Amino acid sequence: MNEPEEVYPELHGRIAPMFPEQRPRRLRRSETLRALVAETRLHPQQFIYPLFIVPGRKIREPISSLPGQFHLSPDVAIDEARAAWDEGIRAVLLFGEPEEKDELGRCAADPSGAAQLAIRALKDSLPELIVITDVCLCAYTTHGHCGVVDEAGRILNDPTLELLAETARSHAEAGADIVAPSDMMDGRVGAIRQVLDAAEYHDVGLMAYSAKYASAFYGPFREAAHSAPQFGDRRSYQMAYANRREALREARLDAEEGADIIMVKPALAYLDVIAAVHEELDRPIAAYNVSGEYAMVKATVARGWTEERAIVLEILTGIARAGADLIITYHAREAARWLSE
Ligand SMILES: [Zn+2]
Repeated sequence: MNEPEEVYPELHGRIAPMFPEQRPRRLRRSETLRALVAETRLHPQQFIYPLFIVPGRKIREPISSLPGQFHLSPDVAIDEARAAWDEGIRAVLLFGEPEEKDELGRCAADPSGAAQLAIRALKDSLPELIVITDVCLCAYTTHGHCGVVDEAGRILNDPTLELLAETARSHAEAGADIVAPSDMMDGRVGAIRQVLDAAEYHDVGLMAYSAKYASAFYGPFREAAHSAPQFGDRRSYQMAYANRREALREARLDAEEGADIIMVKPALAYLDVIAAVHEELDRPIAAYNVSGEYAMVKATVARGWTEERAIVLEILTGIARAGADLIITYHAREAARWLSE
């Protein structure tokens, strides 16, 4: 080894370390030592891969705002999920879209909707794959809000619950393993649990978007899901990004109402929230590494400003280190490939 004294004799002996027995660098000496003492380990089994499902057949259209992601018809979603499965991914999160939107978003519960068809197709061909479904109305309503809207443009909480619960029930009926309400209406977790249990879907799990913040990081997703609000914004129901304690309150309420998994969304600007929720709640914690976070990486990589593999694995490890047990990420497939190399 080239110790400094051998290479630079003039630098040796002028400063004596004060605590030579404490040398943290000992454990950083080699790749294998660093791996041995790693505190956080990523594994493809903790990734959830989002899929955008559209009505039709044989559709695989690139989403321009999310490079590497596609609009998929239910039949083609099988191919995508199988490829992901072969790379080690065990869970997908489906976002559906209707043929035609309506005022109340009732079409979200259509048993022959694209999401429901995709759930059936995926569970038929890949029974072991965990199929999680986003439950919301914003991709299904003409106004693009996540709930029922009155004449004054207010988002009505309680009338929305029934529509959400009916949507979740239709996903359970199609074979979903876990339903994931993302609307942020008060009481929706309890409402969905009640309707699922009444229909004897006791085994269908509930992953709550508990701390979903009104965020500028959702931009690319809204283009992908065609779910941008046609008026106003979502700040009357999604959380304000200045708040951390409120996230704990939301997470506790969702847990009390029956949520099996608690989610924080987005991830990168909310690592402290992930850590706090992980500390406070005795449920698995999921974090959503959202479209804007993904798009920033892709844009930077496209300009040659950073190395993709390195930055993606650093980001995902950071989210896991903060306390996320599960990570929903568009990087899932590429990250799974890198981790298995
Ligand atoms: Zn929504």
